[in-house]
Amino acid sequence: MRSKSTGNDEGKASHIGNNNVRNSKDQHINRNNNYDKPNRLFNRDEVSPGFREPYIIRGYRKPNVSFKESLQGIFRLNNETFNIWSHVLATLYFIVRYSILLLELRKPESSQKDFFYPMLSSAIGTCTVFGMSSIAHIFNSKSEHMHSVFYFLDYAGISIYTYTSGQVMYFYNRPINTGWQVFESASLYTAIGASLSFLSTFLSCLVKYAFKRHKVYGAMARVVAVFAGWFNTVLSLVVGVTICTCHAVTTCQSFLPCNDTMVSHFKRHCFYSIAGGMIYGSRLPERLLPGKFDMIGNSHHFLHIFGALSTEYAFKILENALESRRHPENELLSKTLIDITVFDTILPTLIVFIGNFAISCWFARQVYKKVN
Ligand SMILES: [Zn+2]
Repeated sequence: MRSKSTGNDEGKASHIGNNNVRNSKDQHINRNNNYDKPNRLFNRDEVSPGFREPYIIRGYRKPNVSFKESLQGIFRLNNETFNIWSHVLATLYFIVRYSILLLELRKPESSQKDFFYPMLSSAIGTCTVFGMSSIAHIFNSKSEHMHSVFYFLDYAGISIYTYTSGQVMYFYNRPINTGWQVFESASLYTAIGASLSFLSTFLSCLVKYAFKRHKVYGAMARVVAVFAGWFNTVLSLVVGVTICTCHAVTTCQSFLPCNDTMVSHFKRHCFYSIAGGMIYGSRLPERLLPGKFDMIGNSHHFLHIFGALSTEYAFKILENALESRRHPENELLSKTLIDITVFDTILPTLIVFIGNFAISCWFARQVYKKVN
C-alpha cells in the first residue's frame, strides 16, 4: 500500500502525518519502535507534511533534530545525502576555480584587471548558490518551519547567482553595435537583472509558503520564474551567436560567432540549464515509479548535477572570453568592452544580495508569525 503513496494523495497523507506528529499515543508507539535511534530512517507517512517531497517515499531523516544531529546526518545515508554532497563538493570546486582566476586577474602585470570585478561578482553568486543549497539540505530537518525558512534562503541564493551570472556575461560577452538599448546601458541591464532576481525569489517563496499542498505545480511555477532570470543571463550570448559576427564593424559584433569552442560551451550550458529545470519541474523519474529513486536518481539529484555542469560551462565561456580578447582580430571588441567599475558590478551585486535575502527573511517572518 505504501508504495502507492505519491505526491497526489497529499491530503490523505497530510491527515496521517498530522496524526503521527500530534497524537501522543502514536508518538509513544514510535518511541517503542526505536524512534530515537539516530540512524533510523522514516517513511513518508511518518513525517509531517512540511518535510515531504513529492513522490519520495522512504529515507527521510528524523524530524525536529538538533544542530549537532543535522551535522551528523551529513555522514549517514538518507534521502538528502546526494543533495548535500553534490553541492558541498560543487561549492569547494568553484571556490578553488574562481580563486585561481581572480588571483590571475589581480596580478600587477595582468592586462585584464578591468575584468576582475565582474568575475568577483560571479564568484560571490556561484559560491552563494551552492553554499546556500548545501546549508539548506543539511539543516532542513531541524523543524517544519526551519525547513521552509532554509528553502527561502536557498531560493535567494539561486536568484543572486542568476543575477551575477548575467552581469559577468554582460561585461565579458555583450555584443556591440546591435542598436539595442539594453547593450548600451549597463544600468538598464542591471535594473532588469535585479528586478527578475527579486521577482524569482518572491514567487519561489510565495509558492512554498502559500501552495504547500500543490508542490508539483509550485515547482513548475518556480521553474518559469527562474527561467526568465536565466534567459536574461544568456541574452548577450544568444544575440551574439544568432545575429552577430566576430569581425564585422558596421553591424553587430561579438566574440562568440567565430569561436567554435565558446559556441560548444554555450550549447552545453543551455542544455544542462534547460534539461535540469525541465526534469525538476516534471518530477521525473520518481513520478512514474514512486519510491524507486528515493536515495539516488530522482529529479532533485538531476537538478543539482545539471546545475553544477551548466555553471562549469558558463565558467569555461568566461575563460574563453578572456582568452579571445588577446587575439589581434578582436581588437575593436576588446577596446570597446572595458572601463568596468566597482559601481557597475560589486555595488549592485551587494544590493541584489541584501534585497533577495531580505525577501526570504520577510517570508520566514510570516512563517513564524503564523505559528505564534
Ligand atoms: Zn536542492
